[in-house]
Amino acid sequence: MQEEKIIIVGAGLAGLVAAIELEKAGFKPTILEASDRVGGRVKTDVVSGFLLDHGFQVLLTAYPEAKRYLDFDQLQLNYFDPGALIFMEGQSFRFSDPLRQPTRAIEMLLSPIGTFSDKIKIFKWTRALRKQSVEKIFAKKDHTAMELLKHKGFSDGIIEQFFQPFFGGIFLENELNTSSRMLEFVMKMFSEGYAAIPAEGMGAIPKMLANQLSQTNILYNQKVTKVGYNRVELESGEKMIANAIIIATNPEDLMPQVAGQFEGQQTVTNLYFESDVNPIGNALIGLVVKKQSLINNFCLMNNTAASYAPEGKNLFSVSVNNNQGLKMEELQHKVMIELKELMPELAQANLKHIKTYFISNALPVIDDFQYSMKPSSTKIQQGIYLAGDYLLNGSINAAMLSGRMAAQAVYEDTKGKGFRS
Ligand SMILES: Cc1cc2nc3c(=O)[nH]c(=O)nc-3n(C[C@H](O)[C@H](O)[C@H](O)COP(=O)(O)OP(=O)(O)OC[C@H]3O[C@@H](n4cnc5c(N)ncnc54)[C@H](O)[C@@H]3O)c2cc1C
Repeated sequence: MQEEKIIIVGAGLAGLVAAIELEKAGFKPTILEASDRVGGRVKTDVVSGFLLDHGFQVLLTAYPEAKRYLDFDQLQLNYFDPGALIFMEGQSFRFSDPLRQPTRAIEMLLSPIGTFSDKIKIFKWTRALRKQSVEKIFAKKDHTAMELLKHKGFSDGIIEQFFQPFFGGIFLENELNTSSRMLEFVMKMFSEGYAAIPAEGMGAIPKMLANQLSQTNILYNQKVTKVGYNRVELESGEKMIANAIIIATNPEDLMPQVAGQFEGQQTVTNLYFESDVNPIGNALIGLVVKKQSLINNFCLMNNTAASYAPEGKNLFSVSVNNNQGLKMEELQHKVMIELKELMPELAQANLKHIKTYFISNALPVIDDFQYSMKPSSTKIQQGIYLAGDYLLNGSINAAMLSGRMAAQAVYEDTKGKGFRS
């Protein structure tokens, strides 16, 4: 039996931030990671010179925790244009954010997406959200996002043509059953910063966190099977003891006591295609408004970050929230047809499938969305602490914040107990 002082289970964003904070407090933690890399759900593959993120993900630069732990300059962030390009009835319409792009305010007011009153409401709402703290937003009574939109009096048109495809792409569910708090939080984040991707792909984010560690021992390919008081058991049969354990992943399978408490994940299918033609001249996210469409949203990644595709090539990232149970080849074929219908320029293009990711554990389904938690709330029993987005809300910000809170709790509980390295 090997003796450790602090063990963190999982090297996702939550586990890495917990390690950063523990190092600051003078500890030398050990991370046990089941896979062969850091980052968890944030990962980028390089395939034939294309950067393929595991699922279309963006970093919102207004995230308070991202500002705390990431150097945006060093990440060489590339920014999406605010707003969206809406594909509807054979045409595409730009939907801008007048707060961010005042020069587009008139175009926005005249666009056929939503009514004049809808646009004024969005303008007033985002302006109000900018003045509210995230804590205030998360203290509001919770509804579904859809209920809030209806309550605010938005027309069915703007809900179907903008809110559903846009936030459906973020919440990975089209009905907008996700919390109204999360809707307002994301609206606030979008209006205060940019959606961005690092030049080397989203995987550069956990790498940057891992590079901040100098006293942490990360052990890869070490799947933990059980966590109990002062000990963890590994798939290999090895047991380790520790003064404190942070479980920085869903604890369901590790502690029978919590089984059933954190269940449910949103799924998404992310398909990548390459093309020699670039039919979109901007860095906007494309939304598809069509009931039977498989594609929820798509994006030409190299229009935002040229590094995502080799010179002369273009990279489409396509998100399908409901793949209707189609087999891989049929799904790829149908999505390709849909892309060509949306952008006739692609009809003669050499459009080729690169890779498809079926992501079954994309975002946690959460009953009570929260922004933050007290360090003491991360403690599940003596010496065992939790971290991970599933505790708060499915976002990079929440994962980082939960890691920080768990580390803080360990620090507070162990102060003066003399096992700090
Ligand atoms: C498709 C998709 C799109 C997303 N879009 C966005 C977005 O645009 N913006 C945003 O802010 N967020 C987005 N997210 C959410 C964001 O990626 C997550 O909230 C965040 O990465 C969660 O980090 P985590 O550390 O809590 O968990 P994870 O990333 O799940 O990390 C858990 C780690 O623990 C390891 N592990 C699990 N079990 C064990 C075990 N038994 N033993 C040892 N190790 C174990 C795993 O291998 C993993 O490395 C998206 C997620 C997905 C998948």
